[in-house]
Amino acid sequence: MAKLESFEKLVSLAKRRGFIFQSSEIYGGINACYDYGPLGVELKLNVKQMWWNAMTREYDNIVGLDAAILMHPKVWEASGHVAGFTDPLVDCKKCKSRFREDTLSEESMQSRLCPECGGELTESRQFNLMFKTQMGAVEGTASTIYLRPETAQGIFVNFPNVVDTSRMQIPFGIAQIGKAFRNEITPGNFIFRTREFEQMEMQFFVRPEESDAWFETWKERRISFYDKVGISQENLHFKEHGPDELAHYARAAFDIEYKFPIGWSELEGIHNRSDFDLRQHEEFSGKSMTYRDPQTNEVYTPFIIETSAGCDRMTLAILCEAYEEETLDDGSVRTVMHFHPRIAPIKVAILPLVKKGGLKEYSLELRDKLKRQFNVFYDEKGAIGRRYRRMDEAGTPYCVTIDFDTLEDHAVTVRDRDTMEQIRLPVSDLHAWLAERILIS
Ligand code: ATP
Repeated sequence: MAKLESFEKLVSLAKRRGFIFQSSEIYGGINACYDYGPLGVELKLNVKQMWWNAMTREYDNIVGLDAAILMHPKVWEASGHVAGFTDPLVDCKKCKSRFREDTLSEESMQSRLCPECGGELTESRQFNLMFKTQMGAVEGTASTIYLRPETAQGIFVNFPNVVDTSRMQIPFGIAQIGKAFRNEITPGNFIFRTREFEQMEMQFFVRPEESDAWFETWKERRISFYDKVGISQENLHFKEHGPDELAHYARAAFDIEYKFPIGWSELEGIHNRSDFDLRQHEEFSGKSMTYRDPQTNEVYTPFIIETSAGCDRMTLAILCEAYEEETLDDGSVRTVMHFHPRIAPIKVAILPLVKKGGLKEYSLELRDKLKRQFNVFYDEKGAIGRRYRRMDEAGTPYCVTIDFDTLEDHAVTVRDRDTMEQIRLPVSDLHAWLAERILIS
């Protein structure tokens, strides 16, 4: 059972089956930007749905938000991004390659020679990762604004609005899914590090003295979440940020790392942000960001526990986890994506053995019934074996085959993607059988 050793094979499967394409491919592509194809978009939607449910449905004290990508430029002064959201950049004077200084080897740092061509490296300079743009029609009078580099600030600035309108009382959380943009110096590794990506962030507002306990609770809740999307715990671990690695806002920080083919790498960050963000916004906006306890009338600035996951990175981890090349008894190799049925892009394939003799009509009727609840794919072309293999690569957990006996006995063959075992089921039981195994919970 061969698992994934590099991203190369995954990139090719992702393109072949319509999960992920290079952005603007017909123009030669644009670096580190990707488009999700018909299967990819379904997979990513399921990932988002699972995360959203795990936050806003599972806990009564978490509500949602969808803030604008473009925000008042002062937000980014208050947050510290204008002054400090930078990476140290060095250039090679000879081949013009660019590097993040902190990713260079000890040897290159000391010799100041470029690892690729041996050329001399420039001194490092701080490079701000925020994308700038102009707001307003008249150039010159227009103001410079930023594409948000994280979704979190949209939550912080809406804290008073949510308190005033939602009846939430501390402790409570605000969850948001949305795009973020970073002009990364060294993007790469497929969709691991891109310049446009989606975040799934939840900020949990707590009493300061309870923040350490809530931090532990959220660490546990977040790592166990990954079972739901089919990522095994043995491929996950926590990595603590040491005192010299902590971001300016953080009191404590742990990453959840996944064992990607490139090695253990960050999937999600969990941070105790203290009262830094609310205090900063209070200072820069002049508006109160405090909370009044309705029982005691005590007024204080809450601490924030943040859980910040990358949707694309989680999707990549799910793709890596699912990928397998299996050598069969006859020596042939089948590539199969073992997605958890809940997040598989296509849940059921309906495959008439042949098009003729009423099988097509029977199959289409069945498809129309099932598609009200599941994402169903109908395929009538080619040999049945080849159709199964296609569905294995798409990660479809169940294939339902309709043959001539079906017309007589109203039973269908259901093939399991992982075991390739086939069972015969009365068509009247099919819906309930599938629902038990597939429905998002
Ligand atoms: P890294 O150290 O990988 O640059 P980070 O610590 O800056 O990440 P955060 O600011 O904590 O990341 O962002 C939260 C999450 O957003 C990350 O755990 C990751 O899943 C995702 N993320 C951050 N930057 C990118 C990116 N350039 N491309 C894809 N996902 C990203």
